[in-house]
Amino acid sequence: MKTYANTVNGRPVTSERTFESRNPATGEVLGLVPISTAAQVAQAVAVAKAAQPAWAARPDAERKALLMQVAEVIKANADPLAQWVTREQGKPLGGVGPDQVPGSRFELWGCEVWTQVPASLELPVDLAFEDATRRDEVHRKPYGVIAAIAPWNWPLLIAIWQIVPSLRAGNTVVIKPSEYTSIGTLEMVRLIAEVLPPGVLNTVSGDGTVGAALVDDPRVDKIMFTGSGATGAKIAATAAKHLTPTTMELGGNDAAIVLPDADPKAIAMGLFWGAFINMGQTCACAKRLYVPDSLHDAVVAELKALCEAMPMGDGMAPGTVMGPMQNRMQFDKVSRLVERARADGAIVVCGGKPPAGPGHFFPLTLVTNIDDGAPLVDEEQFGPVLPVIRYRDVDDAVARANRLDVGLGASVWSPDIDAARAVASRLQAGTVWINQHGMIHPMVPFGGVKGSGWGVEFGVDGLKAVTQPQVISIKR
Ligand code: NAD
Repeated sequence: MKTYANTVNGRPVTSERTFESRNPATGEVLGLVPISTAAQVAQAVAVAKAAQPAWAARPDAERKALLMQVAEVIKANADPLAQWVTREQGKPLGGVGPDQVPGSRFELWGCEVWTQVPASLELPVDLAFEDATRRDEVHRKPYGVIAAIAPWNWPLLIAIWQIVPSLRAGNTVVIKPSEYTSIGTLEMVRLIAEVLPPGVLNTVSGDGTVGAALVDDPRVDKIMFTGSGATGAKIAATAAKHLTPTTMELGGNDAAIVLPDADPKAIAMGLFWGAFINMGQTCACAKRLYVPDSLHDAVVAELKALCEAMPMGDGMAPGTVMGPMQNRMQFDKVSRLVERARADGAIVVCGGKPPAGPGHFFPLTLVTNIDDGAPLVDEEQFGPVLPVIRYRDVDDAVARANRLDVGLGASVWSPDIDAARAVASRLQAGTVWINQHGMIHPMVPFGGVKGSGWGVEFGVDGLKAVTQPQVISIKR
């Protein structure tokens, strides 16, 4: 069984202890992942610290050019890396580009684009004030060493979101992938680190204890975390100890609100992918669907037809549109939420019963006759189950959408854009999509409010988030 390696200072690093990475579709062991020791974590941070001044001192144009080379490396290796994502994370290979089934090839295409965009954005010096007596310029400086902690749902794409803007701005990075999806990330970093100076991009691997050691290192200058609110709270407590700044991309429980004038047929496909992309294991999936009484049955019928039409299986098999869930823990959580809803009188319109056999397969599931307060509505299910909730009037829908303590995304569905925008502006969420859901873009800032976190990624704002302002104030 092959043991995969971390990359530290441009060199492979293995550890005495390892753990198995498994294919969620088959249970097959894919390889062994090192468990970084505390000393190895400290060494990775030390290396990143030592490499940072020279990396930051390079002309910006050089960092941009190197990151464009990184995009080329990702493109050249997109096939094997997409296979890693499918075998380790579970999503089907799918196609390339925004119009294709959003699987692993889509994820790799995203990695390429989310590398090119931050590599080509400008971070201009802002003029804050100028008159006859003074001139005040705001320059952007890197933080230093960024510690990045990634989740398992979009393992390579989220790693790229953390790595590339950080490097572009002159930071160096130590990243820890999720213990559920480490090999793909270690392989991607191994490949892209080949075109970067040694020490600029490093990995450590293992479970939460390794992540905890990384964020507790006082030489870390900023933490970028994407994952659950519970882990975010622990990391924020550690960060508070060292006064380390953080970006927190946490969980959500996005509401999608269908307005009474929507056409169920026209919105069904958008709603479907909004809820079920990556088997619902996406932070900004639609996780609660609010529909007016008048449209309830028609919307449910359209979604049911789509749920039943999507072939589910091993993501490596051609034609697969839906893969397994990534891990047993999440599968068990989803099973428990559906069983509880059923026991409380909800109607399981389709799906609900996992098939026998290997793999964490859970069928696409719609649940009706359910209301706010039910665990399936109030907790983040993070899986292929969508509760559909009736509402009385739009004020009622807005109040229901806003009642939870998270606010990542939300969506409003209507042909009347002004009416939809008016509802959107009342929703407590970092992004409100109109007639689409979860449609992130590398130029558009993305982040949560309330318990979904703080700080943004993507676009110029995302680049600024991995820098700190320095004012140069000149007397005239
Ligand atoms: P998780 O919080 O369990 O794990 C995330 C990472 O944190 C893993 O690498 C894990 O090893 C590490 N970790 C665990 N304990 C730690 C500790 N004490 N200190 C440091 N690191 C620690 O989350 P997950 O289950 O991998 O991901 C699913 C969650 O992530 C969902 O809630 C989802 O909504 C959220 N998410 C949010 C976004 C976003 O952009 N807002 C994107 C994707 C996923």
